[in-house]
Amino acid sequence: METKPARRASRYKLMYRSNQCQNCGHPLDISDRYCPNCSQLNSTKKITMRDFAEEFFGSIIDYDSRLWRTITALVLRPGQISLDYVAGKRVSYTNPFRFLLSLAVIYFLLLNLGGDLQSLDRWNLDDRVKGVPGSPLNFEVQGDGEPQQAAQAVLDSLQHTDAGVIMEQISDESRKKDSALMADPKAYFEASSGGFTSRVFRKTDAFYNLMRRDTLYTFADADSLYGLPATRENRMSFNGALSLKRALSRPGTFLSDLISRLPFVTFFFLPVFTVFVWAVYIRKNYTYTDNLVFSFHNQSLFFILLIIGYLMDSLFGVDILGFCLLAFGIYLYAAMRRFYKQGHIKTFLKYVFLNTIFIILATFAGIFVLFSSAFTY
Ligand SMILES: [Zn+2]
Repeated sequence: METKPARRASRYKLMYRSNQCQNCGHPLDISDRYCPNCSQLNSTKKITMRDFAEEFFGSIIDYDSRLWRTITALVLRPGQISLDYVAGKRVSYTNPFRFLLSLAVIYFLLLNLGGDLQSLDRWNLDDRVKGVPGSPLNFEVQGDGEPQQAAQAVLDSLQHTDAGVIMEQISDESRKKDSALMADPKAYFEASSGGFTSRVFRKTDAFYNLMRRDTLYTFADADSLYGLPATRENRMSFNGALSLKRALSRPGTFLSDLISRLPFVTFFFLPVFTVFVWAVYIRKNYTYTDNLVFSFHNQSLFFILLIIGYLMDSLFGVDILGFCLLAFGIYLYAAMRRFYKQGHIKTFLKYVFLNTIFIILATFAGIFVLFSSAFTY
């Protein structure tokens, strides 16, 4: 379906029709309004400023109506848009892949721009480990005025939380390791044993501790100071420690960096998840791509709900996130029923199974993003 604004504009008139396409040379009939080969308008009329403007706004209106049709079909009739798309009714709707990407980017931009994550940067965790006075997470608060006492009370209560206990244990352990490491870094590194992963973790930790004492910008600094060989393992550990130090000293920046990666993760994650959807519905006559279209449509609706939830919360202070998640749960079931056309029992069992798989995969993806962010930040 294509909107044809300005149908009555003179360039559509029969007198301007040609028997050959002005764009691709395809032979045309006088009754052809558009070229069947390249879809350009069949008109030999010289373009005027008015035609130019009409074409410009026409394409915006066209995109707009297509977008609107996509959203209303998606929201009002669960599963129907995927059925239409798979059956070949495609021009009426926006491309599901582009649609999801746009929604994901909008949502994560909203979170990033409106979330005020940068303010978390004042919680310099790197300083906390080091014990520099003046950092909010430091357990010793200087001075003894009223605000200081209040701050100390907050920090004392923090100490009894899990995070506080873990922090305490980390600094205790690192104190013990410190003495051996600081005395002779080279010997400490050469004594590293165990598997590759545990060696890298140990060395990353060691580099992190060395960075707090010595100024190390690149691996070459570590090499010239301690005489460490530039093996792949050592370099990896060094870069890991450098990223860790940066992430800890600016946690807000780290978090917003993490969030900005998520839209792209969705695009690697959904195709993997869809393998399971495809396997569960293997007896249906859908190709893998058909199932992927279905996944993309549902994920798009999920982002629409998240965006609505976010806007309601930030504009009106109403928290409807729980309601949005519940609505999505019901929507998904209805969409599966319509798209795959199976009874309640079969659909329910597959629904439970696929949601379990989704949660497991999402957890792995989350851990992966966290680690990759920490090591490349
Ligand atoms: Zn043509």
